[in-house]
Amino acid sequence: MAAENAKDDAEVGRLPTDSEDFEWQGWKFKYTKSHILHSICSSPEKCKSTPEEQCCLCLYTNCLQLSHLPEMVFPKNILTISHPSGGKIEFNTLDALKSVENGKLPIQVACSEEWKESRLAEHLEEKIKPFDWTFSTNYKGTLSEDAVVEPTEETIDMEMLKRKEKILFYNEMMLYEDELHDNGISSLTVKIRVMPSSFFILQRFFLRVDGVLVRINDTRVFHDFTKDFVIREFTNKECAVKDIKLPLTLFGDPNMLSPHMPLKSSTTEKITFRIK
Ligand SMILES: [Zn+2]
Repeated sequence: MAAENAKDDAEVGRLPTDSEDFEWQGWKFKYTKSHILHSICSSPEKCKSTPEEQCCLCLYTNCLQLSHLPEMVFPKNILTISHPSGGKIEFNTLDALKSVENGKLPIQVACSEEWKESRLAEHLEEKIKPFDWTFSTNYKGTLSEDAVVEPTEETIDMEMLKRKEKILFYNEMMLYEDELHDNGISSLTVKIRVMPSSFFILQRFFLRVDGVLVRINDTRVFHDFTKDFVIREFTNKECAVKDIKLPLTLFGDPNMLSPHMPLKSSTTEKITFRIK
């Protein structure tokens, strides 16, 4: 079994199962996708002796201060957008998990009563030291060093996004997911669409702790090809499950929940790239 895994991992390392490139207005859009992170180290000897060549599992385990990883981690699912100057905006799983706030209990006081009564709390308090077992991330993508980020009054042009434009390039992928020991869901997904006049990315972190809380952290990246900047907006929405008056069957769908959830915080930034 282990030998088979090792073989799989080695092959995945060389060859992503799926990838696509697209160029428009001087910008380059690229995704790669591959399968889930194996739970067994593919080459223990080599991973110990040459850390720079360690397998994905060892890289994740060594880089992250988490007691355990999400059940499903897609280490090779990566979305990269390159500016004509060479600058980059990337969405990748390792950096997203690095942004999981560690050592801090994630459930807020507002929900503490429901939380204390839930069996997950019992389970976790017994077994695990405090760490963010919900894998909540405030990751907003990874920028190349030549990117300049500043606060802005500009906003995403929703009218442009509502226009019926042809979609030239589209993709959607999962970065990680965990079912919280059957007590809900924690997932991070990212999708992109490129239209003739603009591109738009939505990365969504969705958390539902059954009977306790829902949380959505969205990162939206928007660029109008006639402008010389990119807009990045980050929003955090969350509330107790009992505060949303919707049938329980809808609690699996963040698109249905989001309009019913209060906005807790929002920041909008302008990204420009220094021309080398
Ligand atoms: Zn390894």
